[in-house]
Amino acid sequence: MHTAQEHLAGLFPEEIAGRLEAEVPPYRARQIFSWLHRQAAASFQEMTSLPRALIEELEKRFQSPWPLELVTSRLSADGTEKYLFALEDGSTIETVLLPEKRRQTVCLSTQVGCAMNCSFCATGQAGFRRDLTAGEIAAQVLFVQNRLKAQGKTVTNVVYMGMGEPLANYQAVLRSARLLNHPEGLNLGARRLTISTCGLVPQIRALAEEELQVNLAVSLHAADDRRRGEIMPINKVYPLEELLAACDYYTARTNRRISYEYALISGINDSPQAAQKLSDLLQGRLCHVNLIPVNPGSGAARPSSARIAAFAQMLERAGIPVSLRKERGSDIEAACGQLRQRTLEGQG
Ligand code: SAH
Repeated sequence: MHTAQEHLAGLFPEEIAGRLEAEVPPYRARQIFSWLHRQAAASFQEMTSLPRALIEELEKRFQSPWPLELVTSRLSADGTEKYLFALEDGSTIETVLLPEKRRQTVCLSTQVGCAMNCSFCATGQAGFRRDLTAGEIAAQVLFVQNRLKAQGKTVTNVVYMGMGEPLANYQAVLRSARLLNHPEGLNLGARRLTISTCGLVPQIRALAEEELQVNLAVSLHAADDRRRGEIMPINKVYPLEELLAACDYYTARTNRRISYEYALISGINDSPQAAQKLSDLLQGRLCHVNLIPVNPGSGAARPSSARIAAFAQMLERAGIPVSLRKERGSDIEAACGQLRQRTLEGQG
């Protein structure tokens, strides 16, 4: 079985020594951590400040600093780059780099597959296989950081919006956030990390209690229980009233503005009435709405741009801060489990 401790990339400096046979003083463990997380070293051979014997032990025990191997990558015309990784058990996951002038955002996966079964989501349709370990989550960022480093750039933001439901893998996700946040590692401020959830109420409340100021994004996609329950089965477990109460609690505890994601699906949640319900629901809340034209392909169709614009305008008029997500990487299946699906189909 995989445990968080099995992957070197998932260990804090003070845990590393205990995993090695050699006597390793704390400063050596910190060196290993910093080679991994600050330098994003791709091999143990690069860790030149370590004694030979230690490098050899690391190679023997862990083979490579990252428990993942690149299977294939695609570069979009807009610069978006998507990576398909194989894990040690042969499972595959996707990671995306979204480059901008002053910002390099990594979108990472937290599970192999997903058990939430949202009707429009390609990952959900492929089913759930297992949780990722903290090391497998952090390593996705380290891989991208290693690539960016060569261009004199660095990862500035991380969004937990790839495959999987982050809050269903709570411990590993939190551990990975703390690893990315570590001052001797990448040192990414918690405010540069965004965890996205379909709405797991107890975990939202738990996250509010952590001493970690991460951003929370909530996938809403419908503002009434009947419709939301049809497209997101989790709504039957945690209906809107409970979800919004947990979100209010998160805001009250952390003072952080919550992002609500709303994928516009033609004929399902894109009517003027739906926009009205959404603005009524969010009225007076510290929030932001991220409208996403749905990525078609899972039986969901994208509304016309006129309909999308009308939806956005109704929210704006109601004073709800709203943005329309730029579509990126659609030429490389960068959205929502599509590259993995394509590759699996190609294999089958
Ligand atoms: N499970 C988490 C995070 C991963 S999904 C969550 O639900 O938030 C990241 C975002 O992509 C979510 O808002 C999800 O609802 C959305 N999404 C999934 N499939 C989509 C599609 N086909 N088009 C647009 N957005 C999609």
